[in-house]
Amino acid sequence: MTKYVYAFSEGNKDMKDLLGGKGANLAEMTNMGIPVPPGFTITTEACLTFLREGGAPSEMLAEAGEHLVTLQRAMGKSLGDPGDPLLVSVRSGAKFSMPGMMDTVLNLGLNDASVEGLAKQTGGDMRFARDAYRRFIQMFGKIVMDVPGDAFEHAMDEAKGAKFDGAQDTDLDADDLSALILRFKALYREHTSEDFPQDPKDQLRLAIDAVFSSWNGKRARDYRRQNKISDDLGTAVNVQTMVFGNRGEDSGTGVAFTRDPSTGEKVPYGDYLSNAQGEDVVAGIRNTLPLVKLEELDPVSYGELLQVMHTLEMHYRDMCDIEFTIEKGRLWILQTRIGKRTAFGEWVMAAEMLDDGLIDEDAALLRVDANRLEELFKRRVEADGATAIAKGLNASPGAATGAVVFSADEAERWAKEDSARVILVRRETTPDDYHGMIASQGILTSAGGTNSHAAVVARGEGIPAVCGAEQIRLDLEARVFTANGTVVREGDTITIDGFTGNVYVGELPLADSVLEKARQGDADARQEPIWRSFERLMRVADDRRRMRVRANADTPEQSTNARARGAEGIGLCRTEHMFLGSERVQAVQQMIFAETPEEEQAAYDALLPLQRGDFVGIFRAMDGLPVTVRLLDPPLHEFLPDLTELSVEVALGRERGEDVSSQDAVLTKVRQLHEANPMLGLRGVRLGILKPGLYAMQVRAIVEAACEVRRAGGDPKVEIMIPLVATVGELQQLRAELEPVAAEVLAAASVELSHLEWGTMIELPRAAVTAAEIAQAADFFSFGTNDLTQTAFGFSRDDIGKFVGLYEERKLVPANPFVTVDRAGVGRLMQIACEEGRAANDEIHLGICGEHGGDPASVVFCNELGLDYVSCSPFRVETARLAAGQAAVGAAESASK
Ligand code: PEP
Ligand code: MG
Repeated sequence: MTKYVYAFSEGNKDMKDLLGGKGANLAEMTNMGIPVPPGFTITTEACLTFLREGGAPSEMLAEAGEHLVTLQRAMGKSLGDPGDPLLVSVRSGAKFSMPGMMDTVLNLGLNDASVEGLAKQTGGDMRFARDAYRRFIQMFGKIVMDVPGDAFEHAMDEAKGAKFDGAQDTDLDADDLSALILRFKALYREHTSEDFPQDPKDQLRLAIDAVFSSWNGKRARDYRRQNKISDDLGTAVNVQTMVFGNRGEDSGTGVAFTRDPSTGEKVPYGDYLSNAQGEDVVAGIRNTLPLVKLEELDPVSYGELLQVMHTLEMHYRDMCDIEFTIEKGRLWILQTRIGKRTAFGEWVMAAEMLDDGLIDEDAALLRVDANRLEELFKRRVEADGATAIAKGLNASPGAATGAVVFSADEAERWAKEDSARVILVRRETTPDDYHGMIASQGILTSAGGTNSHAAVVARGEGIPAVCGAEQIRLDLEARVFTANGTVVREGDTITIDGFTGNVYVGELPLADSVLEKARQGDADARQEPIWRSFERLMRVADDRRRMRVRANADTPEQSTNARARGAEGIGLCRTEHMFLGSERVQAVQQMIFAETPEEEQAAYDALLPLQRGDFVGIFRAMDGLPVTVRLLDPPLHEFLPDLTELSVEVALGRERGEDVSSQDAVLTKVRQLHEANPMLGLRGVRLGILKPGLYAMQVRAIVEAACEVRRAGGDPKVEIMIPLVATVGELQQLRAELEPVAAEVLAAASVELSHLEWGTMIELPRAAVTAAEIAQAADFFSFGTNDLTQTAFGFSRDDIGKFVGLYEERKLVPANPFVTVDRAGVGRLMQIACEEGRAANDEIHLGICGEHGGDPASVVFCNELGLDYVSCSPFRVETARLAAGQAAVGAAESASK
């Protein structure tokens, strides 16, 4: 029989699939002897059954009932007891943390009778008991029964207003709260047509159902899609004895990190809020104190907390994020998990834990996320002389500048429709704002701490954020905010600095990151922990990786930049980019329009020295490393005037009575060359076959450049690549024409090159499935996964934006296939080409030069295929090096399992 419910003492940290992250860690801590309020976990399997069958399985209800009895017995209290009631919290907890995305109900078990019992338990504190009851009605109403939260908040504001002007929640006394409870119950009845449930068993059942259902709520689904979490996991439900942080000044609640999650520094870090319940911290209701202040308020609990933090970090061998409550001087741990951290924190912590011997090199390497590496190079605000209008907490690093918007919907709309860069400004954010937050360049809130919703989401998404900037006064109706006398309207530009917490009016210049400076040799930057950590772990990555990393670079500057980032050659030099610029375009047009072989040759003669000059620069920048030069690939019309525009121009000229004969001649040519499907048209090898002089000129320029560099003492390693090959015949014919050209140049210069190879791109399905033949005519293959994806799916790579989002949402593709290799289809073609290509030619080199070469998930796949190298744009070279190192370690680990 399926077991649906586990007591905390029955689980452990490795049972996250079944118990969710929260449940598994509560169980682990319980078994470690850490003070965890007792409770039990209802499994994710129960959730999945609930969602599938539209109701909770009866066995689960029976099991939960038994666990409740055991819990009541252990606590010596029972739910709803008017003398001494047990209160529980009901919290969601999926395998992966989804902060604030699903539902939680606290103080469950209170009713008209047990509220009196709670007062008795707390020494006759009627105010406290009634406040707990009104919180429960409010939470239960909002979360379980969908009563609009505003209705309760409005009633609360009215009660405070009636008390006196400016009254706070804490100013309401027991009688005020008694009236408020009646009002809340009336609101509940108004919206649900039912009385607030008095039977705690009904309360519990309804709350469990609501948590299960919240798995499929909109914000949870949005969050999963953005964070690539499967919809099929379900959430567990944790039912746990309540402890109260709001029982006076000797009570409180907080969040503690065993290290600073922003900087990675090895110091206790977090927030504490005295006389408050947990949700107050996350919601940013009142501003919190830094955790270290707890030492002054309650040194004994602080000491105990430090001890627990140390124990947990040693046990998990990672930075832990801990939620705790102090009830009347007694410390309780409500939750722990491996803490989320910034990209900076991640690197610094991993390197320090490695130095301290807490983890080994492989583990340290796997601790950092290759997808976030680029964040480390994020810019900072250059604030020279500028005065900040407000200062908040440096909640998420990076600098952002953009137009102010005041709602998540506006943020999304401006960003999508007007491609505007926006900063979302809110008092605080809630999970309902998620869509707008991810559309924004930066987030600014006037309330809330470093663990408020805004801060947590921003850090997770890598969006710069400043939170809790108290000087900011928002007027949402007038769509303005003021800060220390400055008025900022919707649409005005501001700059926020997520490293310092400063907020500025206008667009400030943004400066390079510490890592960027360090990379450029800045001595001070090289002393920073982040640079040392980066170097340390990149050394491990380079040591572990099997694949080489090259760059896609078309100019000497790009090549130098790529080499500085660790590129080990060029995997794709697109020569068409060299044909841009007016002088060159003219020569190309001359070639296209040539009527006679002589005219065509004259065009080649004009282009040859220009090309040769480019190649010399690139070979010098990549001296000693392989450079793959691809012969001209794109359709010719890209070099010609636009057909429609030209037609209009000619027609208008004619109307005005002008002489349009020369434009007309061009128009005729353009029309002749016009293709319905240029991506499938006269491009790549087809062009080489149609215009043999073109590729011959390019080969001559490449080899002459190599000879020049070689004669100057360099060691150019040349790989000539023919694009868009579909049949072995195409490659054979061109090699037969072009190899003699190269040989002739070498002979004339009396130069020998250490490396001159001929190969092709595999970017058409036919090439992939006939790789065995093609491999016999190629020294290397380079997977052009952009075109291979385009032709395998029949998706236009330039137009996919219109529907790929919907495809991802509907799970019609696991990810955008132009970003991450589609393993099942495109990947399968690659696998066939690798296996059959290698079988036919055991010396062939295999690489990839499509955009996927810099995507960490695709790099892992390339490692599995056994490619010799990946090639990506220069700014992703480090990402690829890291991902290749991680792939090698991951592969070794899974092989040893
Ligand atoms: C490719 O198709 O993957 C490729 C690298 O070539 P291009 O992007 O230039 O078509
Ligand atoms: Mg291509």
